[in-house]
Amino acid sequence: MKSRIPDNYWKAIMENDAAFDNTFYYAVKTTGIFCRPSCKSRPPNKENVRIFNNTEQALLENFRPCKRCRPSGLRLPDEEWIQQVTEWIDANYSEPLTLNLIAESSHGSPYHLQRTFKRMKGMSPTEYIQQVRIDKAAYYLKTTNESVTNIGSAVGYPNTAYFVTLFKKRMKQTPSEYRKNHKGNQ
Ligand SMILES: [Zn+2]
Repeated sequence: MKSRIPDNYWKAIMENDAAFDNTFYYAVKTTGIFCRPSCKSRPPNKENVRIFNNTEQALLENFRPCKRCRPSGLRLPDEEWIQQVTEWIDANYSEPLTLNLIAESSHGSPYHLQRTFKRMKGMSPTEYIQQVRIDKAAYYLKTTNESVTNIGSAVGYPNTAYFVTLFKKRMKQTPSEYRKNHKGNQ
């Protein structure tokens, strides 16, 4: 896709021009972060930049405010941060996720993420991922005819034995039993 960034906007980004603050915000697709034009962060690649007229639009598209230039005027509150992390996990649960990867994508240290997540959600990020995956698997078992192996893979557990063990631990029945008990009477 061709870049549609006005030249004067791009110049403002490159020169950290504070005169354009509050005129527009720019988000970087690769990091998921958005900034004020004056932000001193490393200049982004032009093709990864998106322009927003206000912070709400950027937030709506799931970009996170930069912790450095604070485009929303506030420190990102923990609840909001964890909400974003949660949404990110919800969208990426089928990928091989690690705490480090999640921390990196959400601009926090793994240690801080682990502690804050647990305080907010009552479980660790890893436990949350497991919950999302098993819930999704249960849904697929009820609503599709895919094999247990395929469903396990689809939710992020390519090792079927491991998937079955986790499923049983959480749901107190195997995936096959769960399917038999639930299919057709949702
Ligand atoms: Zn910034």
